[in-house]
This record gives sequence, C-alpha cells and structure tokens, in this order.
Amino acid sequence: MPTYREFHRRSLADREAFWREQAALIDWHRPYEQVLDYSRPPFARWFVGGQTNLCHNALDRHLGVRAEQQALVWISTEVNQTRSFTYGELHAEVNRAAAMMQSLGVKRGDRVIIYMPMVPEAAFAILACARLGAIHSVVFGGFAASSLAARIDDARPALMITADGGSRMGKPVLYKSLVDESLKIARHPPRKVLIFRRGLDENMPVVADRDVDWATLAKDFNGASVACAWLESNEPSYILFTSGTTGRPKGVQRDVGGYAVALASSMKHIFCGEPGETMFTTSDIGWVVGHSYIIYAPLLAGMTTIMYEGVPIRPDAGIWWKIVEDYKVSVMFSAPTAIRVLKKHDLSYVRKHDLSTLKHLFLAGEPLDEPTHQWISESLGRPVIDHYWQTETGWPLLSAHPGVEQTPIKMGSPSFPVYGYDVRLLHEQTGKPVADGEKGVVAIAPPLPPGCMSTVWGDDERFVNTYFRDFKDQLIYSTFDWGIRDKDGYYYILGRTDDVINVAGHRLGTREIEEAVSMHPNVAECAVVGVADQLKGQLPLAFAVLKDAGKRTSAEDVMQTVDRQLGAIARPKAVHFVTLLPKTRSGKTLRRAIQALAEGRDPGDLTTIEDPTALTQIKEALRT
Ligand code: AMP
Repeated sequence: MPTYREFHRRSLADREAFWREQAALIDWHRPYEQVLDYSRPPFARWFVGGQTNLCHNALDRHLGVRAEQQALVWISTEVNQTRSFTYGELHAEVNRAAAMMQSLGVKRGDRVIIYMPMVPEAAFAILACARLGAIHSVVFGGFAASSLAARIDDARPALMITADGGSRMGKPVLYKSLVDESLKIARHPPRKVLIFRRGLDENMPVVADRDVDWATLAKDFNGASVACAWLESNEPSYILFTSGTTGRPKGVQRDVGGYAVALASSMKHIFCGEPGETMFTTSDIGWVVGHSYIIYAPLLAGMTTIMYEGVPIRPDAGIWWKIVEDYKVSVMFSAPTAIRVLKKHDLSYVRKHDLSTLKHLFLAGEPLDEPTHQWISESLGRPVIDHYWQTETGWPLLSAHPGVEQTPIKMGSPSFPVYGYDVRLLHEQTGKPVADGEKGVVAIAPPLPPGCMSTVWGDDERFVNTYFRDFKDQLIYSTFDWGIRDKDGYYYILGRTDDVINVAGHRLGTREIEEAVSMHPNVAECAVVGVADQLKGQLPLAFAVLKDAGKRTSAEDVMQTVDRQLGAIARPKAVHFVTLLPKTRSGKTLRRAIQALAEGRDPGDLTTIEDPTALTQIKEALRT
C-alpha cells in the first residue's frame, strides 16, 4: 500500500496512468481513446471518446451478482413508511420510469427538472434520466416559486417531475401548487408535468393537457425495458444550480465518465464502502451531496443506500443511530449542523445502539467546529472525518484517505488535498503561494480532476470568468474559501472570501437574498450579511432602507417577501431598518464592516467610507 503522500504525488506526476487505473473501476461500453484532453484550458475533457452510462454502472452492471441484494432502502419518519428495493427491483422501477419519460417526449440531451421530496420515485427519476441520456436538474424542495422559475428558464426543461407534497416535522409541504405558481412566471415552461401523488394534498389542482399522473402512466409501462443510451464521457449528465456572488444562480454542469470514475474511486480510497455494505447519507437529493452520495456513488460501489425523509430528532434523537444499527450501516455521511442539533440531546440516544458496523462518520458542507468534532467522535467511539468540497467539485477536495492510509485526525481540519487535486494556497493580492501557517485563498491549479464541473450550463465564458480569473496572471481555479496549512500539511478552512454564506450547510448568496428583500415594494435598498450562529453556522441578517419611511413596514413583511422569493431557508434572522447603508465613496456596500459589527468584532479600516453616520445607525440597530 502506498502512503497517502505517495498516492497524491502520483495522481499529479503520473496523471494519465493514475486515472487509467481508476477508470477500470467502471464499465465502458466503448473504451476511451485519451485519458485527458487539456488542449483548451481551463476546460478539461476526461476519458475522451469513451462511451458509458451512469445508470448502467449504478444498476445493470450489478444484476449478475446482486439482483437480490437491497439497493435502496427508503425510510420516512414523516409518513412512517419504509420501502426497500433490491437491485433487480430498482432496475425494473428505473426502466419503467425511463419508458414513462420517453412516452412524454423526453429524449437524449433534453433537460428534466426534478422538484421532489425525499421519496424513492425521485431516485427512479434521476436514474431514469441517466439511462436515457437526459440531463437532470434537481431543485431543492425548499426553494420558492420564483427561484424555481429562474432555474426553469435557465434549463428550459422538456419535462418537470414533482409530487403533490412533502412533509416536514409531520406537516405537509405542498410541492405541486408551488410548481404551478412557478410555471405561471416561467418564460420557458415544459410541455408536461409528471406528478407522483402521495395523498398529501387532497385538493391538488390539475392542469388538463399538461399534468400527468405518475401512477396512471406507470400502469402502461409495467415490465418495460429501455436500453441505456451510450454517452460520450464528456456529454452532460446533470445541471445543479448553486449560489455565487451575483444574484443569478449558476448551473454547475457535470459530465458522465469523469464523474462516474471519480465517485467510484472515492468510495474505495476515501469512504471505504465495500459492495454489499450499507451507506447512509443524511443529505437531500436537492444538494450535491445527495446526488453523489445518496444516489450515484453507493450504487456504483454495489452498496445498499439509505434514503431518509425526516429530521434527526423525530421520533427521538436516536433515530439515525437506530437506522445504523438496524441496517448495519458501515459508511455514514452527514453535516455539522445536524450533529450540533443532536449534541443538545442526551448521550444515551447514541449509546443505546449497537454501532459496531460503522467504520467512519464523514461530515462536510460547512466548517466543523472542534467541540462538535470532539463530542461526536467520543460519543460514537468511531473515527469522524471532516472533509471539504463544493457543488462545483462534486466529490471531496480535502479529506483524510482511510482507504489509502490511516492518518491521524486533527480536530478542526479536513486533512489533506484529495488525489487529483493540485491544491495551492495563494496570497490574496500577489497570487503567490503563502508559507505554512499563513492564510491564503484555497485554489486548484488546473486541469481540475475528473468529477469536477465541466462548465456553467450554457455559458463557458461565465465558467472561466467566475472561477479562473481571481488572480490576474494565472489561470487558476478559486474556491473562494480562505485556508491555512500547518507544518504537517493539514489544511484548515477559514470561511469564504466572497459574499456567499453557509446556513446549516446550505449555500446562499447574500446578493440573492438582497434581491429578494428588494422585491418588497417599500424597500429602496438593502444589505445582507451572514452572522455567526451557534447551531446553523451562519444566518442572514438584513439592513433595509425604506422608500417611504412613513409607510408601515414590518420586519415580518420583509421576511415573508424573502420566503416567497427564495424560500424559508433564506429568511433573515432579523431585518433592521436604517436610513442609509455604509458605503465606500465609489458606492460599494461595506458588507464586511457590517458583518464585523454584527458579530461584535472590530470593523477594520474604514477610511473609504462615504458617511460614517451610516455605521452609527448599524450599531444602534444592532443594539435593539
Ligand atoms: P456547497 O457548494 O453548497 O456544498 O458549499 C460549498 C462551501 O461550503 C465551500 O466552499 C465551503 O465554504 C463550505 N464547506 C464545505 N465543506 C466544508 C468543510 N468541511 N469545512 C469548512 N467549510 C466547508
């Protein structure tokens, strides 16, 4: 076994041979001709000319030996149901869903928006898209109608798939009526909407000629068989929208072959998931973690994947550990916020379960504070691995690699660069590498490894300008995160360099929230900053200037506007009204100064401020 260091070194120094070995972890219908085409930097094309299919690799490939093994176990503590599917059964469901989608006109290359709660049909739909070579774009169920409409207009789907409703803390959340609302404002609505009815909205409206009932259509395609579309490795597999510095979300586009290889290899070298074992990822299919580690990677690895609908504390704070015991989970993946929620509950909820099958708990999505890392490690008595990645990378960028070498864990650090990533820490201004112990911007020297985004959907220029132009003279990918490396080579993430905030592991652009606040008819302008929160990591805080100060406007009114525009996940913790915002003389809002004040820190250098009384107002508002 090589050491981690040697493994990582080889992945860069002997890139082609290294990735050729990893590519053998998946099936290729036609072999690739070239491992990497990097003739048009920074666009990297992996496994050029090779033909494969994600659904084939996730399902069909395993049928010979695992047709009877559980592939997907769905557990809902919201509606108190469990449904399980063997590889054989999941294959049949996905074939039927693919045939249904075909009958609604979906063809290879078409986009399909999936706006669904955590139900098995969402997984069927995702895998059916992969089977057909259609491009899925899953939108998180917490987003509001206008956010959904913006994503519809960017993706221009041939079909949308939704459900009548979801459920949160036992209360129904209506999905279909929100889809209807979004389709009223979208300029490029799909021809058809396929609806999976769960009986959660008895009064669900139906639009004739457009809406199709899942169960009724499914009857026509029992036992259907649909051949996998063999896609060139670099054809798009999916689009996943994510927030950035501008108000407009970006469609992260991913390929087929590189993604399959990266995920399959990560299961071996990072997550240590063996065929026949069970993986439990507590995320939502609407996020990248759900795409990669609820759906694709565990199935590529021949594992059983658990899909959970519910919260971690219902019926009690032991539910996740009960699942680990009942299903003999060997790999678990969650987020720090969830662990902070569980930390508030009695330790006996963890201790009463037999967790002996669990090899590791992986946590990602937001900074993992040391006390939480310590608490969960001690409570489980199992290694807890903090690892760091982004929607853009699709799989980890910094992590321990227990499948390669057991390296000691340092609390507060997601360990080392993952193989394939040439990680640099660069000085913000000079772009030169910083010394150990000095803070720099976490950057990746291209080419990006397999699995990372190929481009921004429909906008190559935006891909280059957004991610590769942070340092003038170098074409280098910026993560927009600050980091530091200690003398032993361990990295620590220190927060974002841009205006993106992270609420309970969910990434939101403050610009996006500002635009939502500004939709209130009486708001003239506003500033939104992220402030530290003990439970959720960060929460948005808004400062608004009213158009007509005499007109009654409550903070609640403004919050409801945000709920309607973006969804409740973006709702500010508070809205403060001021008559002016602190700005530089060139008109830039001093968000970092506002944030420092809100967190009780020194606002720093304020020599460029236009009117210092604006800051006095912020301070006063914060006192109330
Ligand atoms: P997303 O694309 O929504 O997954 O968000 C990615 C961002 O979440 C990163 O750029 C980081 O700011 C943050 N993040 C993800 N994982 C970690 C981690 N392990 N430690 C610190 N920050 C993290």
